[in-house]
Amino acid sequence: MNIVHEQAKRVYKMFVDFDGTITRRDIGEQIFLQYGDTQKAEAIIKRISSRELTSVEGWKALFEILHPVSIDELTKFVRSFEIDSAFLRLVSFAQEQQVEMIILSDGFEFYIRTILERENITGIPIYSNRLIEDGSGKPQPVFPYRDEECKSCANCKRNHVIENSGDDEFTVYIGNGSSDVCPAQYCDFIFAKDSLRKFCEKEKVTFFPYDNFNDVVSRLETLFSKKRLKKRRQAELKRKNLYKLG
Ligand SMILES: [Mg+2]
Repeated sequence: MNIVHEQAKRVYKMFVDFDGTITRRDIGEQIFLQYGDTQKAEAIIKRISSRELTSVEGWKALFEILHPVSIDELTKFVRSFEIDSAFLRLVSFAQEQQVEMIILSDGFEFYIRTILERENITGIPIYSNRLIEDGSGKPQPVFPYRDEECKSCANCKRNHVIENSGDDEFTVYIGNGSSDVCPAQYCDFIFAKDSLRKFCEKEKVTFFPYDNFNDVVSRLETLFSKKRLKKRRQAELKRKNLYKLG
């Protein structure tokens, strides 16, 4: 097989976390700090970060301390949150390179859509938790993508990674938090900051540190132009083990 042919044949998939990755701050947390009892919200967020609470338990506890508020009002609040200034560059890069980008979030769809609409970004699939209004005066969370076996995350990002990528494809994961630790390990190229980075360092998982998406695009340009590209062995093994479990 000639080299140009091999490069042209490669299929890449890119999975991107939202809070603290696409946005500079964690919008999910900020909602409860603003519209809930701030001290209680802080305490619950700490317990979620330290994994003392699963994410479903954490979200449920946060919604309990939320004051009455409509999704409309929350939508107005979240509109002002900044995104990584290079996110549009990453989106254009993915389009040019024909890389499918998928957003995976253990937060809520309404604010992801609000921010993407503000930036005029369309066509990116989103897998996340959702909010409903049930007449109780405040929104309630629903978790359409929980995993039956593993209760750590409200939205099982690993399942989306597996369902949206083939074993011959090159997978890219970009994230920053505890809900990224599991899915990132099933991907070939991990871009990590914050607690995801700490995990990768501690567990000796190969990763690229990044501060913003400019770093990611530069690194991907180098990787994509390589004549030979290797898949990450540990990710292949994780996938195989998962298939065995059925
Ligand atoms: Mg995050």
